[in-house]
Amino acid sequence: MSTIKLLDDNIINKIAAGEVVERPLSVIKELVENSIDANATEITIKLTNSGIKKIIISDNGEGIHQLELPLALKRHATSKINNDFDLFNLTSLGFRGEALASISAVSKVEIISNQDGIKAWSYNNETQEIKESIGNKGTTIIVENLFYNTPVRFKHLSTPKYELSLINNFIKQMSLIYPNIKFKLYNDEKLMFETSGANNIIENISQIYSLSTAKEFKNIKYNDDDIDIDIWLCHPIKTMPNKKHIIISVNHRLIKNTFIENAIINGYEGYLHTNQFPLTFLNIEIDPSLIDVNIHPTKQQVKLNFIDKITNKIEQLIKQEISKLNFIPEFSIDINMQDNNKDQEINNVKFADPQTTFDYSQILTKEKCEWKLPIFKYIGSLYQTYLLFENVEGLYFLDQHACQERINYEKFLNLFDKKEFQYQNLLLPIIVNIEEELDLEIIDILKQLGLEIEIINPTMFQVLQYDQNFNKFKNFSKDIFNIYQLIKENKNIDLPKIFNEIATMMACKSSIKAHHYVNLEDINDLLLQLNECENPFTCPHGRPIMNKISRQEIIKLFKR
Ligand code: ADP
Ligand code: MG
Repeated sequence: MSTIKLLDDNIINKIAAGEVVERPLSVIKELVENSIDANATEITIKLTNSGIKKIIISDNGEGIHQLELPLALKRHATSKINNDFDLFNLTSLGFRGEALASISAVSKVEIISNQDGIKAWSYNNETQEIKESIGNKGTTIIVENLFYNTPVRFKHLSTPKYELSLINNFIKQMSLIYPNIKFKLYNDEKLMFETSGANNIIENISQIYSLSTAKEFKNIKYNDDDIDIDIWLCHPIKTMPNKKHIIISVNHRLIKNTFIENAIINGYEGYLHTNQFPLTFLNIEIDPSLIDVNIHPTKQQVKLNFIDKITNKIEQLIKQEISKLNFIPEFSIDINMQDNNKDQEINNVKFADPQTTFDYSQILTKEKCEWKLPIFKYIGSLYQTYLLFENVEGLYFLDQHACQERINYEKFLNLFDKKEFQYQNLLLPIIVNIEEELDLEIIDILKQLGLEIEIINPTMFQVLQYDQNFNKFKNFSKDIFNIYQLIKENKNIDLPKIFNEIATMMACKSSIKAHHYVNLEDINDLLLQLNECENPFTCPHGRPIMNKISRQEIIKLFKR
């Protein structure tokens, strides 16, 4: 067991000073980290008025020796590091020896600790006396009247409800990083959140979100010589309206990192609606000498060596996993089933297996490609908008517009990437008027889309030839004007992203609309092309192409 010592000036000067106590959450964060560093497996937090009045946090960790209790409250006193080497090879969450001192400067603090499992001792910052006390093995810290002596900071606190929500979120996030710890959080004697500590992430996810969300999670593990990555990712049918549910930890330290966050979001690219974000938790294990935690006052940011390698790997791992998921949303019709035996009966109902009208086997051998879609039979069209298919598993609805959008989107992306244009001569050049001084960089990007352009004056250009795919543009001059504007808006974004935007826009323009009749031949063609898409399940905006209602659900409708 290590002892608490005052750091010497040389190392103090290397430690980034931190103003750690801003609100009840900051206190909770530091105290929970201390309990984790003491190898606690149970941490109980009891708040009065969201921690503004009182915080009691108890753990079953290693405890503090009674003679060291006064030192624990001193600034730059820590048991976790001794020298420079330790500072750059951190294996603990804390290391500055500042948290308890800072908390003690703005509130009344009492520590009760029982190190040997026999006797407990207490110490507080008012009387400054070490006294015998009662308590189980471990440490309890009581913080009262936060900011009683700093009214300005007190005034900056938000409503108790908001302060509590921050604490609640933090404990939930920690429970995903430490599923082996049993957390309990109470406010005003009411239990707010609790985990079993049974090292079961899925159980904690279902506690925090719901059972149905937990079922949509997949775990990816990766390791090489330098790094271990453990990702829990949720199927993109469950998304969130903000980035708060992307939880990142490095060596089990909760951090914020926009590079990693973006890598995760990029991994989901094409599967999320605009302004929707994934639910993902990720832990990176890396040699502590390759990270620097000492760059941020509340240790929420760390500097990582090889960040590019890490983010590329994460993006690639997520992309790979997502391409394997099943993407046909199945919806259920909520009917109260009185009798549980019904489900069993439903499974026993016999149906004639629908025969397929489409000869899949031939295509599969001919094209030597894998059939990613379900094998089903076309049975009709609904509102001239949705194509209907059946098989033994249920009824499928395919949105014909979304389907063609996906096909065209991938076709355009491929075209922009490979630049194998098939130019078509125009009888008359088409003039595009931009109504402001032309930007030559944008003209250059337009050329890379398969347009042959000649500038005719400072604000206008003409298109002499274009790739045949532009044939479908009904109002070419106006559409090109719009693409020009789109590039202008996205100019500081990288080229692949701009191509992506343009492909999405062009795909929408050139796809069959709803309320349009398609014949059997078109349908066969559509399915073949859809199957060849990298992602045949969502349109470029992230909406589903296909929906399914299972046979069981249909039978339930008729209350069999
Ligand atoms: P740091 O965590 O950076 O070392 P703190 O001010 O948070 O600094 O804590 C000071 C010291 O008090 C720690 O180094 C540790 O030895 C001791 N300590 C604090 N909380 C606990 C706890 N819950 N269990 C055991 N020891 C603790
Ligand atoms: Mg600490």
